[in-house]
Amino acid sequence: FREEEKINPDGLSVKELKQLEAKGEKHVFQAEVNKLMNILINSLYSNSEVFLRELISNASDALDKIRFLSLTDGEQLSSGSDLGIKIKVNKDEKTLTITDTGIGMSRDDLINNLGTIAKSGTTEFLKSFQASKDTNLIGQFGVGFYSAFLVADTVTVISKNNSDKQYIWQSDSHGSFSITEDPRGNTLGRGTSIVLHMKEEAEEFLDEKTLKDLLSKYSEFIDHPIYLWTSNV
Ligand code: ADP
Ligand code: MG
Repeated sequence: FREEEKINPDGLSVKELKQLEAKGEKHVFQAEVNKLMNILINSLYSNSEVFLRELISNASDALDKIRFLSLTDGEQLSSGSDLGIKIKVNKDEKTLTITDTGIGMSRDDLINNLGTIAKSGTTEFLKSFQASKDTNLIGQFGVGFYSAFLVADTVTVISKNNSDKQYIWQSDSHGSFSITEDPRGNTLGRGTSIVLHMKEEAEEFLDEKTLKDLLSKYSEFIDHPIYLWTSNV
């Protein structure tokens, strides 16, 4: 990964995001998703650093998808041809933001992929887990997006797919999420920005050294550039 010059992170403030969450359309998580989140949070709290590996791997998958689409349809990259992952720390706001210029998610994708349709294997996982209580099963089935809630009490996902407008998904993990059109319009061009509102006990991940160490570990297997930006504070 590369380190970039220090800048002040831009974007919506935590206060503005909270207001948008209150105004957004509410959706409930599927029961399986709720169960899965509870199991993750209760079993992996001492191994919370895995959130970064999972979110970077999702960003990388999204970049692979747009790159693949662009092979047959060059127009797909007219929304932006830089393919990469940017990680920003805002120590004032206590947020960590992971942005990719991958395929992005439409409004329907956000609703379906992040909460209302448990991914295949979840039911199977829950069955095996309830029977055995074996936490090693989590590793075998993959942790995924919901591991964000290991370190964040609220997660904001801002996303723009070529087929739709830019939307904001937000949740505090307690059974529901909200979705709303981004009042700023399209600021991403294309891709996804995940804003983690860090829990007090996870503030170590706002530390430059901690992040650099983790990124060195995880970026080794990622086929796209990763940039780390830290704020001036
Ligand atoms: P998996 O990666 O195994 O499919 P995850 O829980 O990690 O499961 O993610 C669920 C789904 O959410 C992904 O399959 C993808 O469709 C969508 N998703 C998550 N992160 C991103 C992202 N950064 N860009 C686009 N889609 C994403
Ligand atoms: Mg994943």
